[in-house]
Amino acid sequence: MAEVNANYAKLPGSYLFSEIARRTAAFSEANPDVKLIKLGIGDVTRPLAPAVIQAMHDAVDDMSHIETFAGYGPEQGYGFLREAIAEHDFAARGANIDPSEIFVSDGAKSDCGNIGDILGPYNKVAVCDPVYPVYVDTNAMAGRAGDWDEATQSWTNIHYMPTTAENGFSPAIPDETVDVIYLCSPNNPTGTILTADQLAAWVDYAVERKSIIMFDAAYERFIVEDDVPHSIYEIPGAELCAIEFRSFSKTAGFTGARCGYTVVPHQLVRQGQSLNAMWNRRQTTKFNGASYIIQKGAAAVYTPEGARQIDETIDYYRANARTIKQGLESLGLSVYGAVNSPYAWCKTPGDMGSWDFFTLLLEEAGVITTPGAGFGPAGEGYIRLTAFGDADATREAIERIAKLKL
Ligand code: PLP
Repeated sequence: MAEVNANYAKLPGSYLFSEIARRTAAFSEANPDVKLIKLGIGDVTRPLAPAVIQAMHDAVDDMSHIETFAGYGPEQGYGFLREAIAEHDFAARGANIDPSEIFVSDGAKSDCGNIGDILGPYNKVAVCDPVYPVYVDTNAMAGRAGDWDEATQSWTNIHYMPTTAENGFSPAIPDETVDVIYLCSPNNPTGTILTADQLAAWVDYAVERKSIIMFDAAYERFIVEDDVPHSIYEIPGAELCAIEFRSFSKTAGFTGARCGYTVVPHQLVRQGQSLNAMWNRRQTTKFNGASYIIQKGAAAVYTPEGARQIDETIDYYRANARTIKQGLESLGLSVYGAVNSPYAWCKTPGDMGSWDFFTLLLEEAGVITTPGAGFGPAGEGYIRLTAFGDADATREAIERIAKLKL
């Protein structure tokens, strides 16, 4: 009989979004006249920038002529895109990343998961709590997480680092050695950032212990404060210990178009093996490159016109984030994030649980949020609201919540 990967049977059901959908559908059925406002999901709503659309149209035209037709491209991504990324996302911020260290893909989710292919099975993995679930579940699938413990809602072999208001949303550096550390800044779900000093402490730890930091900067474009690092490679020594994931999804509205990239520096070597060479081997074996049309669209993000248009869209979402943060704070609630991020992380009033507050907002205001407990045990007592919606609907959502007299 064929043997299957037994780790899959250990995975708890993806409770969070299915439970939100179930409760929302039940409410809608009982209250068909209530127009629900979605501040729950992390998907963008604004269309692609005109410069991106034009570049994609031109690329489609390229496909129609024998002289410009593009078949299989380089698995690592086209030079035109890798060079634009190296120049604008790294050199412009004083980080020295060579195009050969950049691997273009169909998005950061696949890369965050697939990177596990080049890691051994016995690494001790550390994640923040609350956490973007992909880091945890992909390690569980690979057998690195141990067993799921229903009582604590956590994996026995994962090192969880609580990030809450009490520690300023900065994970504590472990006393013991952890081999692989996932850090996300600006963070999903908390919307908070790690400062240069905090990141430097992690880089020192990882260099000393020969760990690897998996740095997820999918929300980098939302950073507004001057002293916040956009890339871990702005921190000296990071090229010796860190892999970085980036995405055009939230930056430029590519959630449906699909494009991202991963940086694996040449200097990152463990057990005598170059991680760049390993990832290159992995990608050339299992991946045939992101679409030519999409990569042409992504490259337009780096043109002056494209960059300006993308910033306009990000500003639209930033205004929503301000509406949410200022609106909820004026009701006496504590709100974190939402400055360098499209996510607001709101403390529930009193000692109310995440799911209870979610239900109250759904049933009394018709506003859909995401209960923090769904992102990990330390997310209990918070909800996440997203700034990716329509501006009028976002304002209305806050007005409705204000009427609740929390
Ligand atoms: N990383 C984080 C922290 C995210 O929140 C998301 C998407 O929500 C991703 C990665 C995935 O991005 P992509 O659309 O590029 O797969």
